[in-house]
Amino acid sequence: MSGSARAFCGAGDTTRGFCRLLPSVLRQTVWRGNTMDRSVALTFDDGPHPIYTAQILDILRRHRTPATFFLLGRHVEQHPHLVRQMLANAHTVGNHSYGHRHLILAPQKLIRQEMVETSAAIERITGQKPRFFRPPRGLAGWKTLSLASQLGMRTVLWSLSTGDWKQPGTDHIVRRVLDRARNGTIVLLHDAKYDDPGEDRSQTVRALPEIIRGLRSRGYRLVTLPELILPQQAQEKKEPTL
Ligand SMILES: [Zn+2]
Repeated sequence: MSGSARAFCGAGDTTRGFCRLLPSVLRQTVWRGNTMDRSVALTFDDGPHPIYTAQILDILRRHRTPATFFLLGRHVEQHPHLVRQMLANAHTVGNHSYGHRHLILAPQKLIRQEMVETSAAIERITGQKPRFFRPPRGLAGWKTLSLASQLGMRTVLWSLSTGDWKQPGTDHIVRRVLDRARNGTIVLLHDAKYDDPGEDRSQTVRALPEIIRGLRSRGYRLVTLPELILPQQAQEKKEPTL
């Protein structure tokens, strides 16, 4: 727990319930993996998309590269064959809400519904409940964090945003990743747009082979999220609990 959270949690009885839960919820939230490992995780948000996700899966297969996809429940129901393909190719699948609503000020019932419906859609196809949740736009309040934790999911953000959704050019996306990647980096990419199936993601697709080759030439292993953060979980067990 940070110093400010520690100070707040010493404030009095009214904070006791919140503060009892805070360490466990924060432990469920991940921005990066173990900085001792020369590993990086590529993550793709907002899919699956019938064109771009299919192309990305093909590139990952050809380069024998595992990745993690944070899926929208609505898109999962539209393109279940792509989710099956992700599983068949040993990628990790996470929950990115059902419809990409703003959750930070949403009522608890709606947040739960967005999470539960997406996990159920993924489980119907893969037979497994997702273990990771990424809030839309990376914005999560206390309700979102604690609900994800209650539903057995770790909240995962990122440590390197490519800005690919702004379509800054393929070279820009590649350079940004190769210049900024460090041990344990979680890279944010997009294989779709949450509200526009016509949005162009071809820059992301074209950047991907260069990103993979560039990271490997710098000695990085490309891994899925569970592989990236498992050493971190082992470390956390050694930390004192408050
Ligand atoms: Zn998103």
